[in-house]
Amino acid sequence: MSPAKAIEIDAGGRPVRITSPDKVLFPRDGITKLDLVRYYLDVAPILLPQVKGRPLTMRPFPDGIDHEAYYRRNTPKGAPPWLRGYTYKPNSRPGSTTTSPIVDDEAGLAWLANYNAIEVHPWTSRVDRIDRPDCLVFDLDQHQGGSLDDVRAAALLVRDGLTELGLDPYPKTSGGAGMHVVAPIERRYGFDEAKAWMKDFCDRLVERRPELVTTEYTIADRGGRVLLDWAQNSFGKSTVAPYSVRPRDGAPVSTPLQWDEVEAGGWRPADFNISTIRERINEKGDLFAGLLAGGGRLRQLAASA
Ligand code: ATP
Ligand code: MN
Repeated sequence: MSPAKAIEIDAGGRPVRITSPDKVLFPRDGITKLDLVRYYLDVAPILLPQVKGRPLTMRPFPDGIDHEAYYRRNTPKGAPPWLRGYTYKPNSRPGSTTTSPIVDDEAGLAWLANYNAIEVHPWTSRVDRIDRPDCLVFDLDQHQGGSLDDVRAAALLVRDGLTELGLDPYPKTSGGAGMHVVAPIERRYGFDEAKAWMKDFCDRLVERRPELVTTEYTIADRGGRVLLDWAQNSFGKSTVAPYSVRPRDGAPVSTPLQWDEVEAGGWRPADFNISTIRERINEKGDLFAGLLAGGGRLRQLAASA
């Protein structure tokens, strides 16, 4: 039998067309587009609450992870009429408008996966109050020659600083080399205000552990330290969502962790992937549920604890 050209699936009660369902997106793992769609429908109940109402940046991999991909903000032509979007004037192209998709349901997730968008990249604000982020994101990257231990230590430093201020941070693997720490905040600060707070907060963390973390953006000046990139919290910037698949061998998943797992170490990001995550969700439940319960105020951190 020749491979199916297109099939129609039921995604939460809505029919969604899946073209080339047998297309292999992960060649070393044999994971197809239909496998990706099925994965996202499986985790939809735990993923959707994290992305609902947020514009998404897309990153299609039309020919799988070995081939070219690109970030894209504008919803492609031919997107279904029921797909919500947020229309705005991007700074990069004055005079034009961009409509970024908003995925609120299973059908939206299936549409996104059908578009070969392996990853889900939500913004940090929701469309009903788009200029007020509802969380701070710390994107902790493994620096060249560094180790996951440095990233874990940086995550714990961030946690301690945030909890001192009464905030409630949540850690996850990025699914790549590093980690993300997400802290919900009240939806009352503008992006510039939140970013200014982040800059000050990160400066204080550097004062505490100058050998571990830095705010030096230039790689040469980082000197083997983990970058605290406060500018990641800008309007329209995204971070990969919890439970998003990443375009790497083994199909790793950005996976929520418990803080004691961050403390203990002993895991690799690749341990959490499209094949292992279901069992983990069954065991641990929704570790990011608390993120949606509302956030705290931004108070100032003292220079030393
Ligand atoms: P890693 O742990 O390997 O760093 P990561 O997902 O954190 O994985 P980063 O390169 O640190 O990858 O980027 C952080 C986030 O910024 C990504 O998850 C993605 O949502 C967003 N991002 C990165 N590059 C771009 C880009 N060129 N355009 C739009 N968004 C981007
Ligand atoms: Mn990163």
